[in-house]
Amino acid sequence: MSSHCDIAVVGGGPVGIAFALALRDSGLHVVILEAGTTKSATVDPRALALSYGSRQLLDRLGVWKDLSQVSPIKTIHVSQKNSFGRTLLQAKDLDIPELGYVLPYATLQGTMQDALLRADELTHLTDAAVTSLQSNPTEARVTYRHAGHERQLEAQLAVVADGGRLLEIAHPPKVSDYGQSAVIAHVTCTHHQSDIAFERFTTQGPLALLPFRGGYELVWTVAHELSQEVLHWDDDTFLAKLHQHFGDRVGKFLTVGRRACFPLQLKRAVSTTLSHTVLIGNAAQTLHPVAGQGFNMGLRDAWELAQGSIGCATGTLGSDATLANYRKQRQIDRHAGIGFTDGLVRLFSNEFSPLKIGRAAALSALDCFPGAKKFMAKRMMFGANG
Ligand SMILES: Cc1cc2nc3c(=O)[nH]c(=O)nc-3n(C[C@H](O)[C@H](O)[C@H](O)COP(=O)(O)OP(=O)(O)OC[C@H]3O[C@@H](n4cnc5c(N)ncnc54)[C@H](O)[C@@H]3O)c2cc1C
Repeated sequence: MSSHCDIAVVGGGPVGIAFALALRDSGLHVVILEAGTTKSATVDPRALALSYGSRQLLDRLGVWKDLSQVSPIKTIHVSQKNSFGRTLLQAKDLDIPELGYVLPYATLQGTMQDALLRADELTHLTDAAVTSLQSNPTEARVTYRHAGHERQLEAQLAVVADGGRLLEIAHPPKVSDYGQSAVIAHVTCTHHQSDIAFERFTTQGPLALLPFRGGYELVWTVAHELSQEVLHWDDDTFLAKLHQHFGDRVGKFLTVGRRACFPLQLKRAVSTTLSHTVLIGNAAQTLHPVAGQGFNMGLRDAWELAQGSIGCATGTLGSDATLANYRKQRQIDRHAGIGFTDGLVRLFSNEFSPLKIGRAAALSALDCFPGAKKFMAKRMMFGANG
């Protein structure tokens, strides 16, 4: 069975849904195909740090006001283990109320799905796994399985927001393996500071504590080969080792919730556009979670692609010229975001002593140069085009 639409969105994760919601009033016929059910995302254990810029975009999408369970970040404390030098990024230096917000991925996804259900103009199919995507000079053809049947959808534009699996074989991305995994969990401690996030660089990889609900969402980067051991330590061992690794800034760690592990790689699509096709979010670039840039950048992909699609004259949606324009618009922000996160991981993982001293000096110096600090914080909040 075959049908037609203007835009087929492959993947109803937070980025795919954001893109579709941005087109709610565009008059375009948009179909979202999501492999999971509405309940799938509720089991994802990760927490996300959203930037203030993402809050503004989610507000425009009509989602922000419905997000419950959000904890603000007003200060980010950046330091390096076994070394002097630290810097503080503060919301007041940027004249904004908060630098960012912490919330569970599942809350974001659930709230966005609810917004999608209320948007009658958009067609949302769950349990619809896309199995292939092909394009010819005039359109993209999406094949998917839904309710036990194979179906086809022809679209002027296919937007791939599936996290990066569908085109991995036909169009392999560039991959750099960091040799690291992120162990995540909710932890509590004796000296919780409600709106301060901590990013601590160690030669093992960065460790982040994101304030959430009277405790912290921990993102602890460890070597792949150590990750299973860390996952299976008993709670007392885990808390003691965490204290040893992080230091005294939040006192003693008291409890740790369910742990999960994510292997970390940098993956970037060689090109974010193909004939009548665009890759956005993690499908375009999967970043290391250091500095919490992945979803924030994916949301900017979604927003800008939607803005460029609204009002497209007949025949220009998905055309080479329109896609080249999108690619050009996203190029600086995308390259800057990839370079920033990748550079941070590599720079701080290096044990070479002079480099260590240089990094410490740089962290201290950053604190003394408000202009440089503001520039960096603005990049993190709003991207390179902000
Ligand atoms: C440990 C960790 C911490 C992170 N912390 C942060 C943070 O603090 N801040 C931040 O901004 N980012 C963070 N990220 C990154 C963030 O999670 C991702 O950037 C974000 O989830 C990308 O969203 P997406 O919609 O592109 O992809 P995904 O979230 O992967 O969603 C893809 C969707 O597509 C669906 N799908 C897959 N294949 C198909 C198919 N064939 N057919 C149909 N549907 C399909 C999936 O079911 C899913 O719903 C973190 C990542 C990790 C691993």
